[in-house]
Amino acid sequence: MTATGRPSDPQAMLFPPTTSRRLIVKIGSALLVDGDGSVRADWLADMARDIAARVAAGQQVAVVSSGAIALGARRLALPKGGRASLEDAQAAAAVGQIALSQIWAQSLADAGLTAAQILLILDDLENRRRYLNAAATLERLLSMGAVPIINENDSVATSEIRFGDNDRLAARVGQAARADGILLLSDVDGLYDRNPAEPGAQHIARIERIDARIRAMADGGSASGMGSGGMASKIAAAEIAGHAGIDLAIASGGAGRPLRDAVRHSIFAAAHRRTRARKNWLAGRLVVRGHIYVDAGAARALVKGSSLLAVGVTGLEGRFQRGDVVDVITADKQIIARGLAEYDAGDALRIIGIASEAQGAILGYAPRSAIIHRDHLVLL
Ligand code: GLU
Repeated sequence: MTATGRPSDPQAMLFPPTTSRRLIVKIGSALLVDGDGSVRADWLADMARDIAARVAAGQQVAVVSSGAIALGARRLALPKGGRASLEDAQAAAAVGQIALSQIWAQSLADAGLTAAQILLILDDLENRRRYLNAAATLERLLSMGAVPIINENDSVATSEIRFGDNDRLAARVGQAARADGILLLSDVDGLYDRNPAEPGAQHIARIERIDARIRAMADGGSASGMGSGGMASKIAAAEIAGHAGIDLAIASGGAGRPLRDAVRHSIFAAAHRRTRARKNWLAGRLVVRGHIYVDAGAARALVKGSSLLAVGVTGLEGRFQRGDVVDVITADKQIIARGLAEYDAGDALRIIGIASEAQGAILGYAPRSAIIHRDHLVLL
């Protein structure tokens, strides 16, 4: 049910702002920046209040905010919204981002929240170890009730190695943050079966599967001309989210208050696929770099859904790095689980059989909660 009700509306029941424990909200440039280059302060103040209401209701919210290039371009009086060349976009982003962070910090503070800025480039989420580091930072911030404000680090990202649009960035952040819902807010209220400007265009409320027919409905290009994302990048984002089992909705941020009211939207439903998607990904797609041998107590705990603790580990093989895939093997040589190592092999070896409270002194840094966290582990 939403803040304004409508519990009988099945659409509203599935809308990620309503249902998600951990929600990523992506906000497009045109919502934040006016045509004359000023920040839409009233809109932002409402958004900050609505985020605060969600946080007060027990949800965790991270924001992927566009607007740096649009804001900086106007301040630097650059042509084509700062997108005439990569150099222009990088300079515009540098000018715009500092303003954008300040505005977010202030608006959220006014609503009683703490903002946290994270700027990412593509490789921060493609590289497994850096991905896990970013994931750990997001986890910590969200668990403390801070609101991460995330953008691509456009002033250093070069054209070959960029996300390029914040829709896909939001999807990858959703994966890293283990979100269960993503809301893409821009100037369109969802997917239509053809260009929404054409007469007779039908709004599609729910999409179960993204196929060639759905992809053909996206005609590309942003209506506002400010951001780089169009429907094609939103569908690409929905595909990434779908693989991670995250529901993704597209709604307009221009009319109404999408975090407060049940607004019209399109939803790409995926949450029911979460377990299988994670299992497929972990169980099938990566090269196994190491073996971790466990005692009977650890094996029993894993089956019950626990993380793998160092105290139950009896030995290991392989030169794995933190973030690599490793198999968990019992004394009778059964592979019972597969997961992502929280330590590289060297550090893992130093703490096998050691209880958590004694690990810090051995490692020289605060230990992680497990050798393999249960969120990154599947039973085989
Ligand atoms: N990262 C860009 C910015 O802050 C926005 C990318 C997009 O339009 O999706 O301006």
